[in-house]
Amino acid sequence: MTTHDLTIISGNGGQSAPDDVKKLNHLIDGEWVESTSGETFERHAPATGALVSVEAKGGTAEVEAAVGAARAAFESWSEVPGVERARLLNKVADLIDGSRAKIALFETMESGKPISQAEAEIEGAANIWRYAATLAWNVRGDSQNALGPDMLGMVLKEPIGVVSIITPWNFPFLIVSQKLPFALAAGCTAVVKPSEMTSSTTIILGELLIEAGIPAGVVNVVLGFGDPVGAVMTTHPEVDMVSFTGSTAVGKAIVAATSGTLKKVSLELGGKNPQVIFADADLDQAADAIVFGVYFNAGECCNSGSRIIVHEDVAEALTEKVVALSRKVPFGDPLNADTKVGAIISTDHQAKIDGYVKDAVATGARVELGGATMSIDGLGGQFYQPTVVTNVTEDMPIARDEVFGPVLSVLTFQDFDEAIALANNAAYGLSAGVWSESVHTCLSFARKVQAGTVWTNTWMDGYPEMPFGGVKESGIGRELGPHGLEEFLEAKTLQMRIGKTRTPWV
Ligand code: NAD
Repeated sequence: MTTHDLTIISGNGGQSAPDDVKKLNHLIDGEWVESTSGETFERHAPATGALVSVEAKGGTAEVEAAVGAARAAFESWSEVPGVERARLLNKVADLIDGSRAKIALFETMESGKPISQAEAEIEGAANIWRYAATLAWNVRGDSQNALGPDMLGMVLKEPIGVVSIITPWNFPFLIVSQKLPFALAAGCTAVVKPSEMTSSTTIILGELLIEAGIPAGVVNVVLGFGDPVGAVMTTHPEVDMVSFTGSTAVGKAIVAATSGTLKKVSLELGGKNPQVIFADADLDQAADAIVFGVYFNAGECCNSGSRIIVHEDVAEALTEKVVALSRKVPFGDPLNADTKVGAIISTDHQAKIDGYVKDAVATGARVELGGATMSIDGLGGQFYQPTVVTNVTEDMPIARDEVFGPVLSVLTFQDFDEAIALANNAAYGLSAGVWSESVHTCLSFARKVQAGTVWTNTWMDGYPEMPFGGVKESGIGRELGPHGLEEFLEAKTLQMRIGKTRTPWV
């Protein structure tokens, strides 16, 4: 197949890259500081190879200073009334809205995602800050009235303390916004490390936090790599909790690293998410959602619906519809407002995606569309074709691993039990979807599938008020919704005697 069969966008449609290379420093105790080592590293745009930013390269000294600042700020921040914390979070949300175009541009330049998607994500992120502000008014525990006439019990909810927040490259601004405002609403202080590939927008957020009036030391940002910055953030004795989003492999390393100090750990990890299509499903609706689910963010998405499990009676018809729609999805220049799928994050990652496809073909799978890299006129970066692979069996790596690219695997089933067995045959358990006109089929599937989120006759809708997280190797804990606040709170039991009613022991 040639790329002439696809919808390719070359040309930026008038939206230009930023004029200047952004120079990024750490935010520690309210100050912008370079690394003590003087070292830096660079980020180049995945779509063009152009230099976007030069970041200070953090080390142990920067993490030590940031954790020290967060610890020192904790007591006073934890005592700020909820109403004031809410006011500050709402102010941050307004400032994010005011900087949406700038944040989206850097998000697009560093991640390769389309500019229209980046803008929608920044808009969504601002609303998450607003939602978290409502929770800041509602940090509350419980009481126990039935301990007898002489006793009263209370359960206080207290902020857990200093939190290390570590984020990935695929949704940099959105993911830090799924963690940080909830931690702040709870009364925690934080040290944040963005991915080394997408640091700019977390630094812009730091600028907005200062402008909003968040006190010095409450939020610190250290730039750098997993080793040593992430590693020290997860072993430091003054850190009380690690909130991590990223790969399952690093999630497991963090569980091991935190065991020495027994920190609380919250993990949002990978997924290999099944969408099951029953024979009575609306195939047009399903096909559109499948195409969205697999190509959104170039498939570099924990929620990628990359594992289609379709009833064999409708498998051919559905695959034809998916292939036809795939040809229409605009792939190309991320800066063009019409582009729906942009660049792949790195050349290494692109090679990994291609390796999964080649391996599947070598073991009997068939490529119906795509299956190769592509170049876009005028852009030097890396792009992968929309790819549909059939004849996939459940033992193939393409059906089991997170490919994290615009690659769809199609498996088939004969009856409900087989569909559930296939859906649950994965180490992951992040999200799952079901397509059927029967509410009974949908609900039965929803009850039996092993996933943190289930979508019925839709895919990847999300709301700040709905919790999100995974089971099995997709994670521990929940973000968003009231659960998102609870993650950063610790229960303290208070048992109070009324009057001098205690019976002496001796
Ligand atoms: P990654 O695990 O390679 O890196 C994530 C972050 O961890 C980066 O900031 C990295 O520098 C840091 N890190 C690396 N090694 C570390 C260590 N030893 N200790 C501490 N920190 C360390 O993940 P990635 O490639 O940036 O992101 C893609 C992954 O994230 C995918 O697996 C995807 O499914 C997952 N993800 C999950 C969700 C979710 O909500 N479940 C959302 C987005 C992405």
